[in-house]
Amino acid sequence: MFIKHTNYEVGVHYISLVESAKSLNMSEPFYGDVEVKCKMDKTYSQILLNCETTALARLTCDRCNEEYEAKIESKFSALYFFDESKITEDDDDVFYISRDTDKLNISKIVRDYSYLAIPMKKLCREDCKGLCPHCGANLNYEECKCNVEVENPVWNKLKQIKFDD
Ligand SMILES: [Zn+2]
Ligand SMILES: [Zn+2]
Repeated sequence: MFIKHTNYEVGVHYISLVESAKSLNMSEPFYGDVEVKCKMDKTYSQILLNCETTALARLTCDRCNEEYEAKIESKFSALYFFDESKITEDDDDVFYISRDTDKLNISKIVRDYSYLAIPMKKLCREDCKGLCPHCGANLNYEECKCNVEVENPVWNKLKQIKFDD
């Protein structure tokens, strides 16, 4: 994914880009197109990008085990200096760009931020009811009857008494 910055004058520009996850080298769980919207602030000495990405992913819900589709959104900033002496080694997302380079390659940074934005806790929906731990029924779709029988302590005691006898 490239921004041909030489097409733009010094000043602020808004740029929209779309590229397939595949061609950005983003495999599982990503699919389809990745959209990137950038504000590009270009001066004579540097280019500052502030971008928002939207990628599509197929995730598996931690509670009910069903696959669901999610929009993975992330934001990043990247700063490109035309002067190499401005770069220090510990600056993340700060890059040197030679005066002869007409394109900014943002594929890697889009990919990295998209993967970082995959949620740790994956839920098909906020109120997913999950699976019944006893019979495995998906409680989003059906109500099983174990709940009443297994979790009622009185009932359990009665059962035990019967077995003991
Ligand atoms: Zn779920
Ligand atoms: Zn159940």
